Amino acid sequence: MIASLRESIEADAILYQPEDLRPYECDGLSAYRALPWLAVLPETIEEVQAVLRLCYAMGVPVVARGAGTGLSGGALPIENGVLLSLAKFNKLLEINVPNRTARVQPGVRNLAVSEAAARHGLYYAPDPSSQIACTIGGNVAENAGGVHCLKYGLTVHNILSLEMLAMDGERIRLGSGGPDGPGYDLMALMTGSEGLLGIIVEVTLKLLPLPQKAQTLLAAFDSVERAGDAVAAIIAAGLLPAGLEMMDNLAIRAAEDFVHAGYPVDAAAILLCEVDGLAEQAATDCERARAILWETGAREVRVAENEEQRKKFWAGRKAAFPAIGRLSPDYYCMDGTIPRRRLAEVLERIAQRAAEHGLPVANVFHAGDGNLHPLILYDANRPGELERTEQLGVEILKLCVDVGGTVTGEHGVGVEKINPMCFQFSPAELTQLHAIKRAFDAKGLLNPGKAVPSLHRCAEFGALHVRCGKLPHAELERF
Ligand SMILES: Cc1cc2nc3c(=O)[nH]c(=O)nc-3n(C[C@H](O)[C@H](O)[C@H](O)COP(=O)(O)OP(=O)(O)OC[C@H]3O[C@@H](n4cnc5c(N)ncnc54)[C@H](O)[C@@H]3O)c2cc1C
Repeated sequence: MIASLRESIEADAILYQPEDLRPYECDGLSAYRALPWLAVLPETIEEVQAVLRLCYAMGVPVVARGAGTGLSGGALPIENGVLLSLAKFNKLLEINVPNRTARVQPGVRNLAVSEAAARHGLYYAPDPSSQIACTIGGNVAENAGGVHCLKYGLTVHNILSLEMLAMDGERIRLGSGGPDGPGYDLMALMTGSEGLLGIIVEVTLKLLPLPQKAQTLLAAFDSVERAGDAVAAIIAAGLLPAGLEMMDNLAIRAAEDFVHAGYPVDAAAILLCEVDGLAEQAATDCERARAILWETGAREVRVAENEEQRKKFWAGRKAAFPAIGRLSPDYYCMDGTIPRRRLAEVLERIAQRAAEHGLPVANVFHAGDGNLHPLILYDANRPGELERTEQLGVEILKLCVDVGGTVTGEHGVGVEKINPMCFQFSPAELTQLHAIKRAFDAKGLLNPGKAVPSLHRCAEFGALHVRCGKLPHAELERF
């Protein structure tokens, strides 16, 4: 295989020694690790086609990798497979100002797009907190979100077209420049497909004009419940903030210690609420948000006095995950969504479960979207602690589904949420997902074992939990 690959790819872009493969052994979910058989770093579409054609002919699994910041194990290598890094596809091909679009290779970093567009007064709205490192290819494959997705939508709402390679190397263009296109919406299907349907090799992104004015409020609360009520009240009042984020006390203290953002470290929770638009509109919305925050029981409301302070407020939020990483050797980040009005109740129930398991949980999340990120702190070196963490994670995601939410809002399923997917979908629904996978990848070689559980797996998972009496619920009987 290596000899055949060398006919199409430079020898130093093919890695097979264990020490060369080590950097690829996990993504942002460090709990699970594996070394691939080979890692390849092609530089052109023709080289990627050569890798895929060879793997297709020889029946070798392929796992695509962008920056490896994923939090669900999507880029976790397969031991007898090829790890296909798109890191060298890092060129911003075109910024089209009249069309307000950017055409980029998949390995371009998210933040690099907005940095390049800024000189034209434009930006790319989806802004994952990992935007300094994560790639557009990874964003499309995960349908990534971010602070500003409450108002401007997820990745799927901000791309116009993409080019992909099927497992047999066939080149396919999806989407169109127009608001609608004929046929099935395969571009939307590819968005969030976690590397299971094809390899993304080019993306055309929508750019937006930079808002004339953005104002950020920081509100401190003495109870998480009140902060949750404030989120519901802001949305119910008809305001659509550009971002509405919540952090609980553990997250506040960790972030403050790390970046000194000026957060009140004794608050039970803070909300960061950003309004943007024309200057007058932003000022009016800011006053309305401020009034609602006071009415719903905030003990302190601050408006960033200048751009520097506004950026400081956000720096704490954006650095919250690495900040929490300083508190404990390992963390496990859940990503469930829930209806906004259930926020306070669900956070309370998560705290109860966490106490029962004896594991601390920090919460920092997209409150406006109802997209929770409970971070379970644990130490993988302590026997049994990873298993307890996984169990708590499953219980949290089941709770999200039970109150009408989902097991993932933006981080994808990967390997981490493969079992909780059994709560979310019926066997008939999973069967349709498998049919789509087969239509794109008949041999099942692209990122196998991720994102969509087999019916067999769900049956075993359901039976296990019912037998242990851990998750008794009627739905599992369907399996
Ligand atoms: C500190 C931190 C904060 C984060 N904050 C957010 C956040 O606010 N919002 C959010 O949505 N996510 C967030 N994430 C998660 C992560 O950054 C996103 O999921 C991101 O989209 C992953 O991009 P990546 O380039 O690192 O992809 P990777 O981790 O390398 O891969 C992710 C998945 O995409 C597939 N893939 C990658 N490239 C391609 C390609 N070219 N073609 C086909 N499949 C491909 C992989 O196989 C894998 O399944 C955060 C992560 C960290 C570590």
